[in-house]
Amino acid sequence: MKPTEHFDIESYITETNIKLLKDRKNLLRQLQSDSASISDVREKLGEMLHTVQDFYSHTNWVELGNERINPMVGMGSNLGVQLNGVNDTACKPCSSHFTDAEQKEVDDAFGGLLTGIPLRIVGSKDNVYSCRGNMVTKFLTSGYYESEKDFKPRPEGKCSHGGKKFLFKKVMK
Ligand SMILES: [Zn+2]
Repeated sequence: MKPTEHFDIESYITETNIKLLKDRKNLLRQLQSDSASISDVREKLGEMLHTVQDFYSHTNWVELGNERINPMVGMGSNLGVQLNGVNDTACKPCSSHFTDAEQKEVDDAFGGLLTGIPLRIVGSKDNVYSCRGNMVTKFLTSGYYESEKDFKPRPEGKCSHGGKKFLFKKVMK
């Protein structure tokens, strides 16, 4: 799993978009050739659509208040929005201290269906953190993903997508 296929990791956002732009041009070229394999084209198109979808699900585009698509995704070398600075904090650690409403949500989630989507739920109640309001940047960022942590470890102050091995436990202690 590469960050440039999933709009993961803040510092790869531009590279991911440029890859998408190149892939789109290659795909169009391939389609115009007589030897185009429909199954190859379909597979590549599916991968690219996945990356486009990840722009909206892995970056904070929606949290920044955007209600429309970004027409520059896969279309230009510049996304047309300011990226969070390399040395600027994007996320603060999630909190294990809940408001009454959040505590009720945790209790309800463990008592019934796991509906506490904004809460980090990892196996037991001891590993439940509230991540509401943990994103502090006003600029575009993306999270580090568990399976990509070997590729590039998450620096302090950057966001994560979560995952069983990617706890904030160390940060919380
Ligand atoms: Zn993905």
